[in-house]
Amino acid sequence: MAPYPGMLRAACRPVRSFLQRSWNRFLNRLDPPVLILLYHRVTTLAADPQQLAVSPENFRDQMRHLRDSFPLVGLGDDWGSPRETAIAVTFDDGYADNCREALPILEETGVPATFFVGTGSLGTREEFWWDELERLLLEPGEYPERFTLEDDARGVSWPTASPGQRTVLYGDLHRLMKTVDTPCRASWMRRLRDWSGKGDSGRESHRPLDFRELARLAQSPLVSIGAHTVTHPCLSALTAERQREEITASKMRLEEVLGRSVTLFSYPFGGRRDYTRTSEALCREAGFVRVASNFPGLVHRWTNPYALPRRLVRNWDRETFAIHLERFLYR
Ligand SMILES: [Zn+2]
Repeated sequence: MAPYPGMLRAACRPVRSFLQRSWNRFLNRLDPPVLILLYHRVTTLAADPQQLAVSPENFRDQMRHLRDSFPLVGLGDDWGSPRETAIAVTFDDGYADNCREALPILEETGVPATFFVGTGSLGTREEFWWDELERLLLEPGEYPERFTLEDDARGVSWPTASPGQRTVLYGDLHRLMKTVDTPCRASWMRRLRDWSGKGDSGRESHRPLDFRELARLAQSPLVSIGAHTVTHPCLSALTAERQREEITASKMRLEEVLGRSVTLFSYPFGGRRDYTRTSEALCREAGFVRVASNFPGLVHRWTNPYALPRRLVRNWDRETFAIHLERFLYR
């Protein structure tokens, strides 16, 4: 009997993965790469549905491991031709804990880092939209029986009596909100606030950076600051004109606040489908020199500087972190 294609694929998997690892080792020797790590928050949260937070204890252990094991580079540095694999640390979004929790640990361990900051939230007490979605839907409390999104194009209704039903709604709205532009998302969020009766006051634990904290970050010789749009939209869902606004306005605002030129950028969400060739061209046109995305890979000499791969780091202890780094470097 001929084996099923699925069985054949499964049988070939170890061989493919061995070949892939050998090829990557060869490439890494030929041209030692930079591995860019992606963080969001350093704090401890009661609930973290997007798994964005690394605890201060684990973050300190991770930074000690990097310091003890690898050459470290800043994203804004001239990397020249590295003689061995180096690592760069980056943070997206601009949470207040980047200054309160991450910076002291970076300074203690001497690890350089780049912080990509969304300028629309800077200095406000508003939560980022994915956090507010969580606050309005997933926190314990009394909720109405149903939520209906009475939008012209989408008259969709969800049952919301149980925590499980609200988790489904959270997932669906998170996906939907990524596909619309900022005014539409803001109007859906207003409806959700009215529906839940929870108001719009953001939690201190989820606060974005204020201007003093941003200045404190930017003063550190270990830190570079990059842009991350104004309202954190999914760029591929926007017209070219709206993309240009988001990209250039965030650069200009940061330059105005920091009094220095900002040449680094990271795409919101950063997956291959979250931005387009137009986004890359607009970033080049705006004067950015390195732009970070969010898909697996290593940065070689030949890597497109407008689509630098990064690896997400989770709340891992030192041992688990070391295992993941090996995987990031060779698979
Ligand atoms: Zn982001």
